[in-house]
Amino acid sequence: LITITSIAELRDITDRARRDGRSIGLVPTMGSLHVGHRSLVRAARAVDDVVVLTIFVNSLQFGPNEDFDAYPRDLAADAEVAEADGVDVLFAPPVVEMYPDRMRTAVHVAELTEGLCGESRPTHFDGVTTIVAKLFSIVGPCRAYFGRKDFQQLVVVGRMARDLDFPVEVVGCPLVREPDGLARSSRNGYLSAEERRAAGVLSKALFWASETIVHGERDVDALVETIRRVVAMEPSVHLEYVEVRTTDHLARVKVLDGEVLVAVAARVGSTRLIDNVTVTLGTEGVTADLGVVAYGP
Ligand code: AMP
Repeated sequence: LITITSIAELRDITDRARRDGRSIGLVPTMGSLHVGHRSLVRAARAVDDVVVLTIFVNSLQFGPNEDFDAYPRDLAADAEVAEADGVDVLFAPPVVEMYPDRMRTAVHVAELTEGLCGESRPTHFDGVTTIVAKLFSIVGPCRAYFGRKDFQQLVVVGRMARDLDFPVEVVGCPLVREPDGLARSSRNGYLSAEERRAAGVLSKALFWASETIVHGERDVDALVETIRRVVAMEPSVHLEYVEVRTTDHLARVKVLDGEVLVAVAARVGSTRLIDNVTVTLGTEGVTADLGVVAYGP
């Protein structure tokens, strides 16, 4: 593992790798690595010759009252994880390296960023697409790996790559869960023991909802109502949204058909959590993708 903090040094390595005909896989993260991030590294390791993991807590994607300062940072622990997982290059630039001057440029993806998390986080996705565009341009990867946990982000980044002709394949990887179903997140560390227990209701509601679809439910309003009722059993969990969208363009759906995203966002105490499942309703029947459970840190 080589740890690098400068753009020029990283470019040296990735330029050389490309010249030697080696493929580069990029895994962008904000660090505080857990088994969700590690699954992206594993996916990259299986396909690409050089795996570049980036760790950068990107101020641009946090709103003014969000947790930028409190966001967990532990580079030494992350480097150990990266080393154990076979990452080749860890890029952990300081803020001045990425933003030496106030940014005058932003990448904005229209429409796809407007609903869902874009509702309560109006500047978030511009921050994400801007940093990801910078990383694409710095690293020059063949493939970039993103988790389906942040499903809207995956769709938005994929659209950006397509619209701006980045020669990068955006790869979506399964949502990784705790044994009780809670989606793994660096923010889970903010939860008290009681909040952590209550937060389990989000995945339970989504699993239950997907089960009702498998058993014939086709009405979106009824589905949303089911999720709201289940989550209401934990009064400390406050739903921000429950939405059903198409997985390709995130369009609203009225009647369940094709491949749909069932997504929730909620506050548990002061912690904001998101989760989703996708369900495919085809001629061959109904299949739900609930993600995968992974044990360990
Ligand atoms: P973050 O560090 O939270 O910005 O996440 C970096 C990448 O890891 C993003 O592509 C996330 O979607 C992905 N990721 C985070 N948590 C999970 C999870 N539980 N399952 C799958 N991917 C995840």
